[in-house]
Amino acid sequence: MPDAHHLLGLQPDASAHQIRRAFRHLAMRWHPDRNPAPDAAEHFKRLRQAHDELLAALNASSVEPNADAASRAQAHAEARGADLEQVLDLDIEQCFLGGRCELGVPQLHPCTHCAGTGIETLTVSRMCEPCRGSGRIRTAKGLVRCTDCDGRGYSSARACTHCAGAGTQTVERRLEVRIPPGMAEGDELRLAGEGRPHADPRHRPGDLRLRIRCRPHALFRLEGRNLVVRHPVSALRQLMGGSVEVPHPGGFEAIMLEPAAPSGRRIHVAGAGLPAKGNKPAGELIVELEPVWPRNLTPSQRTRLQALENELVADAASHYPELAQAHTFAGDAGR
Ligand SMILES: [Zn+2]
Ligand SMILES: [Zn+2]
Repeated sequence: MPDAHHLLGLQPDASAHQIRRAFRHLAMRWHPDRNPAPDAAEHFKRLRQAHDELLAALNASSVEPNADAASRAQAHAEARGADLEQVLDLDIEQCFLGGRCELGVPQLHPCTHCAGTGIETLTVSRMCEPCRGSGRIRTAKGLVRCTDCDGRGYSSARACTHCAGAGTQTVERRLEVRIPPGMAEGDELRLAGEGRPHADPRHRPGDLRLRIRCRPHALFRLEGRNLVVRHPVSALRQLMGGSVEVPHPGGFEAIMLEPAAPSGRRIHVAGAGLPAKGNKPAGELIVELEPVWPRNLTPSQRTRLQALENELVADAASHYPELAQAHTFAGDAGR
């Protein structure tokens, strides 16, 4: 295949806009509807291919600037269509358990109205606008033949009104995506072959790369692969220790509390965070225990708490060492 740039009469650094414009001009001349020459259809196909190929190459080079050089070199070696990148929003439950979801992928297709040419054939010819019917255009080099009408001064084609001459239209494709368990914020889910098609059908299409984003949740928060849960627990339970049920995306997680002071406690449960995936180990479950003190005590409850308090204060040295020491200091000072 001759060089695509050469075929379209373009410089190697041509922009997408220049590529489309060059193709449109040439397509006006070579479209089989307009050109009776026997090789017109074949040449038109080559132009179309060159156009698609150049645009795909521009797209491929603008995707993922931080891809490592090795994978980029490999991508060059085995030509394929450009990758598409899109964000996929997941609930925390989906990140943990995986599942299926449906996704709309906007894709460029050849315009059905003009069969991808960007040109509409008119039943009635009309005067060519750019040259005002003269067939020639005034340039710095003098009068040259008008490329829009090929010097005829009239034209029986115009830019397709459905796609504004682009030759493409955006169609949303519905795709069912299987989500493996253990996807974290920023992870990439790669769907092979679901990206842009290659201009040459012998090469495979690009990939669709889904960048995972985690929706905020009322109870849970993900920090990397760790799951943080803020959970209210009775201050007395925290003081005594024992079993506590903590909500978890998979249901509930029973955790065992050691007896300890209720304030500012964080419990770490290894392996109960986001499940392991690939070479990434499972995260931790981090429970931020929020102590809740009893309110509105009845007289009977108050009496029983008072009895307990009296008992603990009597042995202050072992239960309230700071209190016991404060009393000793006060005693020393008074003497
Ligand atoms: Zn003209
Ligand atoms: Zn069209």
